[in-house]
Amino acid sequence: MESRAIVSYQTPSGQRVEVVKQTFSSVRKRPAKRVAFVSGLHGNELEGIYLCHLLIRYLQNLQRTQPKAFQGEVHIYPAVNPQAISAGSRLWPFFSQDINRQFGGDNGNSLPAQSASELLDDLKSSVDIAVDFHASNLHLKEAPQIRILDGLHKNLLPLAIQCNVDLIWVHPASPMFESTLGYNLNQARVKTLVIETGVGLRLHRKFADQLFQGMLNLLHHTGVLVDTGSLPKIDPPVIAHPSQVALLQSRYAGLFVGHSDLKKNVAKGEVIGEVLSATDGEVLQEVTAPESGFLFTVREHPLVYPGAPLARIALRDEGCP
Ligand SMILES: [Zn+2]
Repeated sequence: MESRAIVSYQTPSGQRVEVVKQTFSSVRKRPAKRVAFVSGLHGNELEGIYLCHLLIRYLQNLQRTQPKAFQGEVHIYPAVNPQAISAGSRLWPFFSQDINRQFGGDNGNSLPAQSASELLDDLKSSVDIAVDFHASNLHLKEAPQIRILDGLHKNLLPLAIQCNVDLIWVHPASPMFESTLGYNLNQARVKTLVIETGVGLRLHRKFADQLFQGMLNLLHHTGVLVDTGSLPKIDPPVIAHPSQVALLQSRYAGLFVGHSDLKKNVAKGEVIGEVLSATDGEVLQEVTAPESGFLFTVREHPLVYPGAPLARIALRDEGCP
């Protein structure tokens, strides 16, 4: 494994900060494929950092014991926004900027914009396929899923189904995604999958283990790894198109008390939770599933307001198991 700093700068207090990339080279002169794993664009999303640790540990051991398994290249960028990660915040501290809205276009020459541009250039010049790991915020718990912008799905679904996620959500396109890393890499013909899982500032070993198997499977599927013994076991995902996702929202300000965890087979009418009055004994809203399907998002944060998201369900149809 080779380590290299792709971004390096000194903070006003004198501290040196580096964005590190770990590379596992191919035994072939022309690598079969070159795959990148990126995590930590948002400093409060920790699942991907843990997942990169698991991948680095596994690949280091594999390189020692079976170097010929590496027919392609793997590039791991485990913590691409170090200052936000050390603060546990979504935004880059001091600048209060979301680095995942700094890609592509002319974003000036602030440190977050320069850092974003260097990361994008490095990825464009080093890889064919990328996986960008995100977690949810503190409000919502998400089942392991890949979100694909409508229009890119024909290109990305064949790779996404290899990743052992529970759900692939083909998501409506919106101009707000045009400054993200995933969008800009896909525009540059680096096939990029954006994974969303868990809750902000938390780790879920079960989700990480599931995604770890998925990432190993992706490396086998793309020919990057060969002959490593047994193949990872993966399950097929539910695939939901934009019209198949129901968002349940609070109609009131109050406390949301969840009655259900994430669940693959929620039944029509099943109680997901309640919105309670904070000032009297009233139950303001009973939150039930409008149709049967996969409850893949559930609210974790109890404080709600009118319009607050409470849950999402991928509605079942003939295409969904
Ligand atoms: Zn994120």
